[in-house]
Amino acid sequence: MMNNSELPGLYIHVPFCGGKCPYCDFYSVTTRSQMGQWLEALEREALLYRGRFSLFDSLYIGGGTPSLLGEETLSSLMEGLLRRFAFSSDAEFTIEGNPDDVIPDKAALFRDLGFNRISLGVQSFDDRELRLLQRRHSACQAERALDCLRRAGFDNVGIDLMYGLPGQTQSDWLRTLGRALEFEPAHLSCYELTISAGTPFARMREAGVFAPLEEEEGRALFLATAQYLADRGYIHYEVSNYAREKKSMCRHNRKYWNRTPYLGLGPSAHSFAQGERWWTVKSVSRYIDCLFKGRSPVEGRERLSPAQASLESLALGFRTKEGLDEALFHNRPRADKILKELCESGLVNRENGRILPTPKGFLVADSLPLLFY
Ligand code: SF4
Repeated sequence: MMNNSELPGLYIHVPFCGGKCPYCDFYSVTTRSQMGQWLEALEREALLYRGRFSLFDSLYIGGGTPSLLGEETLSSLMEGLLRRFAFSSDAEFTIEGNPDDVIPDKAALFRDLGFNRISLGVQSFDDRELRLLQRRHSACQAERALDCLRRAGFDNVGIDLMYGLPGQTQSDWLRTLGRALEFEPAHLSCYELTISAGTPFARMREAGVFAPLEEEEGRALFLATAQYLADRGYIHYEVSNYAREKKSMCRHNRKYWNRTPYLGLGPSAHSFAQGERWWTVKSVSRYIDCLFKGRSPVEGRERLSPAQASLESLALGFRTKEGLDEALFHNRPRADKILKELCESGLVNRENGRILPTPKGFLVADSLPLLFY
């Protein structure tokens, strides 16, 4: 019998954005002309999984920019999902939104459609930084969107922020963070600006017209964030994620870190179940074409070997507050010596049979598993 934390999650990828942010490497297109066909294709894709997942306890509508969807599209998306899939009575229903879309009518629509968690892509409360990121909203719009969600009755609101922007000082960043806290968000995601290959920012960096912060400065901002939010009672439960209390940790995202099954629908969405991972084509046109011709849009699959799965478990464990069971290290040569050194360097703590990463450990979480191989 599965307990709720082991029930799978459902992810829907909405591949539409009002414009492309120059740092973004998520899959999305900036025309809306295929929205109707995308929705129809999604319904057909959902049918392919009929009977494979009996009960979900989370739904996450991400993207892209789900808040771009109009009332008719979003209502019919939700109606289709609720008709095809079963959700537990306490399921977490999240939708991502951008501040420029979240006006009172939209907030009321989210509420009426059953969403109980909103993740708002604010990024910064500083207009200079928002212009640099080429976001389509201002700090004032972000504040209005947060007010409007509150007035619509949402108390489970997450704010996404970005640090490590060119020229950003620690006090600039802490000002944004402080402004976010004035809205008492249930959740905060704080991501460092990373320059992904193929993005406009990567090309600007190559041309020498854009310089992100030095690695050392980024690390200092990460540690300052962790301290600032810990001092204000937030739980640092994953490298980039903070919750006001245990119940406001994002149930859906935790499934990715705990290797709990999830089904992803929509172009570029990933799924994981029974040790297998698969993903769909990264193109709205090909996605629609496959499904309209009765073919699966799955582009690739992989099954991890036991050794790969165990490396992945270590990698994920070092990224979360729950850390890892010491038993996972028992048969690894030199593990005890390495763990002792990690403790002495302040990267992990050992408590009640678990290895728990510290904020300093989170900073190097990706390199820790390799020490045991
Ligand atoms: S709105 Fe979000 S998904 Fe769309 S381009 Fe910007 S960062 Fe990427």
